[in-house]
Amino acid sequence: MILEGKNLRKTYGFDDNKVDAIKNLSIDIEEGTFVAIVGRSGSGKSTLLHVLGGLVEPNAGEVFLEGQSLYNMNDDTLTRLRRRRMGFVFQFFNLISTQNVLENIVLPIHLDNEQVDNDYIEEVIQLLGLEDKKYAFIHELSGGQQQRVAIARALASKPAIIFADEPTGNLDAKSSQEVVDLLKIAQRKYHETVIMVTHDELIASIADRIITIEDGQIVQDTRKVVK
Ligand code: ADP
Ligand code: ADP
Repeated sequence: MILEGKNLRKTYGFDDNKVDAIKNLSIDIEEGTFVAIVGRSGSGKSTLLHVLGGLVEPNAGEVFLEGQSLYNMNDDTLTRLRRRRMGFVFQFFNLISTQNVLENIVLPIHLDNEQVDNDYIEEVIQLLGLEDKKYAFIHELSGGQQQRVAIARALASKPAIIFADEPTGNLDAKSSQEVVDLLKIAQRKYHETVIMVTHDELIASIADRIITIEDGQIVQDTRKVVK
C-alpha cells in the first residue's frame, strides 16, 4: 500500500460545539490507482483528504505514506516530505500571481534546493498543453489553464501521490472535463497515485475506485473492473 490511514478520527471544536468530521475511518490506497472520494457537502471529504495529506493532524489514528508515519515526524520533516513525495491540487489553484507559469511549476523543487530535471519538466508542460504559456503570468490564464499549471506543479517533484481537493469546483463543465482527463492521462503516464475529492459524480466516474463518505465514515467503496 502506498498510503494507509488507520482508525482515523478528527473532531473540530469542543463541548457543545463538537463536530466529529471523521469517525474511526480506515483506508488503504494501492499504488497507481486513481481514487475519487465522493459524498455530500459536510460529509468529511476535505477533512479526510487533509488528514491523509499531512495537512491536518487527526485526534486519533495514524497515516502511513510509503510506510512512514506522517504524524510521528517533526513539522520540518513532514513539510519536506510533503513537498517531495506529495503533490497538491486545490479548488482555487493556489498559484503565485507574481511568478510566471514555469516559476510556479518548479517552485516546490527550488524550495528544497533540489536539482530541476529540465527534460522531465518540459515533458510535463507539453503533456498539459502549456508550452505556449511558459512565460505567461497567472492572471493571463483562464481557470482551466491555471488548474493545468497546478497539476504540472504537483507533478514536478515526481511525487508518490497527488491529492486533489475539488479540482474542478471552480471550473465550467468543459474545463472540468479537460482538467480531470489530463489528471488521468498524467496518472497513467507516470503511474501516479491520485486521490481526488469531488461532489460531482460525472467527474468521479473517471476514477478506478470510488469511495463514498457519509457522516465521517466510508459507506461505499467501489472498484471499476479493469478493461
Ligand atoms: P466536505 O469536504 O465533505 O464538505 P468537510 O471535511 O469540509 O466536509 O467538513 C466535515 C464537517 O466538519 C462539517 O460538519 C464541517 O462543518 C466541519 N468542519 C470542517 N472544517 C472545520 C473547521 N476547520 N472547524 C470546525 N468545523 C469544521
Ligand atoms: P469543501 O467542502 O469544498 O472542502 P468547505 O466549505 O467544507 O469546503 O470548507 C472550506 C474550508 O473551511 C476548509 O478549510 C474547512 O476546514 C473550513 N471549514 C469548513 N467548515 C467549517 C466550520 N464549520 N467552521 C470552521 N471552518 C470550517
